[in-house]
Amino acid sequence: MNKALFLDRDGVINIDKKYVHKSKDLIFIDGIKELIKSAKLRSYKIICITNQSGIARGLYQEKDVKSFMNYINQSLLNSIGYELDKYYFCPHHPDGIVKKYSYKCDCRKPATGLFKKACNELKIDCTKSIFIGDKLSDLQAAESMNIKRIYFYSPANIIYKEKRYIPINSIEKVKL
Ligand SMILES: [Mg+2]
Ligand SMILES: [Zn+2]
Repeated sequence: MNKALFLDRDGVINIDKKYVHKSKDLIFIDGIKELIKSAKLRSYKIICITNQSGIARGLYQEKDVKSFMNYINQSLLNSIGYELDKYYFCPHHPDGIVKKYSYKCDCRKPATGLFKKACNELKIDCTKSIFIGDKLSDLQAAESMNIKRIYFYSPANIIYKEKRYIPINSIEKVKL
């Protein structure tokens, strides 16, 4: 069984400018590339799990998400010599306008469909794995999966009280 570093995308890998899907809008979050490299060197699988309701909302298409993810991977390869092992995205939203994607699915976080798929495909042991997210729905999904350490990244120092999520205001504070 493998251990994984699970990452949300918008707000964790790249700055969340709302419905980012063009390569010109890619700005990496400070410290994330270095973290990915350290995690790869410690044998973590790097897995991105992202809600992309912009597809259901008709703002962009699946192919745009794929080419943006390819661009992220190419940029990572060029700068640190590693890329994501795998990414998974949910194109759905119950209030979308594109019929094909507009229903309540089992993969939009806080649902766990994408995590389960990732764990099966990459043989991941969640109890040895780490997650970083920037929304409560991310953290809830990770918690449902029994992920060992769940970081809530918020540069604005927001903290969810009464929860076991670890608040960090800098990616450098993640312990592998
Ligand atoms: Mg996010
Ligand atoms: Zn979905």
